[in-house]
Amino acid sequence: MSDFNQPLGGNDMPRFGGPATMMRLPAQQSAAGLDAAFIGIPLDIGTSNRPGARMGPRQIRDESRMLRPYNMATRAAPFDSLQVADIGDVPINTFHLPKSIDIISDFYDEVLSHGCVPLSLGGDHTATLPVLRAIAKKHGPVGLIHIDAHADVNDHMFGEPIAHGTPMRRAQEEGLLDSRRVVQIGLRGTGYSAEDFDWCRDQGFRVVTAEQCWHKSLEPLMAEVREQMGDGPVYITFDIDGLDPAFAPGTGTVEAGGLTMPQGMEIVRGAQGLNVVGGDLMEVAPPYDPSGNTALMGATLLYEMLCILPGVKHRD
Ligand code: MN
Ligand code: MN
Repeated sequence: MSDFNQPLGGNDMPRFGGPATMMRLPAQQSAAGLDAAFIGIPLDIGTSNRPGARMGPRQIRDESRMLRPYNMATRAAPFDSLQVADIGDVPINTFHLPKSIDIISDFYDEVLSHGCVPLSLGGDHTATLPVLRAIAKKHGPVGLIHIDAHADVNDHMFGEPIAHGTPMRRAQEEGLLDSRRVVQIGLRGTGYSAEDFDWCRDQGFRVVTAEQCWHKSLEPLMAEVREQMGDGPVYITFDIDGLDPAFAPGTGTVEAGGLTMPQGMEIVRGAQGLNVVGGDLMEVAPPYDPSGNTALMGATLLYEMLCILPGVKHRD
């Protein structure tokens, strides 16, 4: 166990000191030798409304400082089981979105070549498209658990095919998704037409609106999702705006009536047992997050994703 990377403990260095990495894990230049890696994508030039998600990775890392290694609820002990590190940020070109998309997919091709599972800190949701391109190149079309207030299936935004409101549509068109194994949870708000979510249903996606989640545990839903996902590869993409703004105000495109944080945790924990090949937590925008709580929710959900990865041991 001692030759596994461990988060720096709070009794070895005060929580407000030490490395500013995710969970104060060791920093590494490459994914070589890692089972899982945290990766920042400081991109927000695909944002349509309030910017700021470029600062998300840094703030998520900062707020992750208090996360301890052992999951008291699920008994997961990820650092007993997996070699994990923070491999830093993707060096995007902040003046050029299409170039940034290619930089991101090349970066993830390299990460995936080491057999490493990427867990990404966003960054706006545009970045999920190039990550999925790399993931599908390695694993084939994936099942998708997509938590979001928005379906992100616009055909274009301001005439552009690639933006933070289009990644799921492009991913489906490019054959990156196994469309019978896609679920979108938390969709809500106002639309351009009554048919806004019908494109998803026409593709075979399962759509679970926020209203269908209100006032209830999502454990039964996740039992159905596990059935839907089967044994195939699964990717989890969690837009922090899927949560209600009471829990996560620090994001660019806020919608009322969202999921609770316990529901968000039920969703991620409900993915345990699936063949999860990657995950991301997107759209944390620190300028609207003065308490840091939005970033803390994001850091916590990323930790929960780590805890459900294949191969993680659960203590008795
Ligand atoms: Mn989104
Ligand atoms: Mn959203």
